Amino acid sequence: MICRACNSKNTRVTCTDHYPGLTKRYVRCLDCGCKFRTVEQYEQPKPGPPKGKPRPGNIARGSSHGSSIFTEKDILAMRQLYRQGKTYKEIGSVYGVSSSYISKIVNYKYWNHVP
Ligand SMILES: [Zn+2]
Repeated sequence: MICRACNSKNTRVTCTDHYPGLTKRYVRCLDCGCKFRTVEQYEQPKPGPPKGKPRPGNIARGSSHGSSIFTEKDILAMRQLYRQGKTYKEIGSVYGVSSSYISKIVNYKYWNHVP
């Protein structure tokens, strides 16, 4: 801290007050004896979204869910292929997933919100 009166660096912080969003420091110059105050403002961390489990009905499903690799369209196409006589394995190789995964989609174990 540099003294505002005599530009000496020989100063001491005598008191520090913390407020939300700013810090006030009371400084005394040891050379000329003057006192001054500095104010440091800083950005407060913004309060994030409320934590906790998402409420029922507010849960992302299907393609709106970030971790999903398929869209509703894919699911409908998979079930269509199965109805056309394709095996789980054949459909799985088309979409790059296992036959057991296809069977769960076709049998509405997964993606049961897609008609
Ligand atoms: Zn001074």
